[in-house]
Amino acid sequence: MSNFLNENINKMQAYVPGEQPQDKAYIKLNTNESPFPPSSGVVNGLTEKNLQSLRLYCDPQCKVLKNKLANLYGVSDKNVFVSNGSDEILNFAFMAYGNKGVYFADVTYGFYSVFAELYNLPTTVIPLKEDFTLNLAGFYGRNGLVVIANPNAPTGLEISLNEIEEIIKSNPNGVVVIDEAYVDFGGTSALPLIDKYDNLLVVRTYSKSRSMAGARLGYAFANQKLIQDLEKIKYSTNPYNVNSLTQLLGSLAVDDQKYYEDNCRKIIKNRLFTKNELEKLGFKVLDSKANFLFAKSEKITGEKLYLSLKDKGVLVRHFNKQRIADYIRITIGDEKQMQTFIEKVKEILGE
Ligand SMILES: *Cc1c(COP(=O)(O)O)cnc(C)c1O
Repeated sequence: MSNFLNENINKMQAYVPGEQPQDKAYIKLNTNESPFPPSSGVVNGLTEKNLQSLRLYCDPQCKVLKNKLANLYGVSDKNVFVSNGSDEILNFAFMAYGNKGVYFADVTYGFYSVFAELYNLPTTVIPLKEDFTLNLAGFYGRNGLVVIANPNAPTGLEISLNEIEEIIKSNPNGVVVIDEAYVDFGGTSALPLIDKYDNLLVVRTYSKSRSMAGARLGYAFANQKLIQDLEKIKYSTNPYNVNSLTQLLGSLAVDDQKYYEDNCRKIIKNRLFTKNELEKLGFKVLDSKANFLFAKSEKITGEKLYLSLKDKGVLVRHFNKQRIADYIRITIGDEKQMQTFIEKVKEILGE
């Protein structure tokens, strides 16, 4: 770093994304992408005419896309925000609502603490309980910015709609962000609560269930006033945050919703297969509602298992963080990938 860098940025830790190796073809089970391609509508969506439109700025209001999402989820387009990946919405939320303090779990999505440091926000980390479930009471009455991934990452565990509502009710003077990056894999959404509470922001992404991680598209639902806050930040940083090709492909994906729902069902099935197989091998596997499993074995450390799998061409995620160092996180791929994964684990354990 240069000597010119602002001190808080100089001393903070940037987010470290999962590996995206370009050297060899791994079975890639490390960053929770979909094993399935985007739908045919998306894959065939880029006509010559669409590409020629790159000459023009994109629609800063993202009207077509917002309308599609509003119709699909049964809300008004005034309740919808779209962004360059959902990380951008999280970024905006920390910027907009964090000054009175931010509250999130110790084991959760790694970006929350990065935004908190980036903006120098007073931060309270609320450790998960021993069994990795959320310490619900720890989030009551905070009246700052509460951020909860539901289902949580990397555990895959979820809290119920009632439990979410209790947290929202007890924080009437703070915004509660529910990050639903993984909700499509069998989780429960807080979306029905946005009309009832003016302090709820529900954040979603195209990166996981809609097979579009590389297109960078996130969306959020909330009361109209919260959406206006986010729009204000967007127009103060990057009015054209969602490029025209991504807006188009995002709309086309909504037209193919059934395809994505079928894919989610396949992932849920493969998740069950993988969990059963790992349990047969003596693993402890958390009860996941996401497109990944969080698992550990008494027979091998998380790091050793991660490295041995990588050696055999299978990439999973290992977090060098004390409380979860024994675990690996395995993205659920297609049937064949999961069979290979299990075979490799057996080889490594010598079974
Ligand atoms: C993957 C992920 C995101 C980020 O998704 P993008 O839309 O790709 O930025 C946000 N929150 C959680 C919990 C995630 O796992």
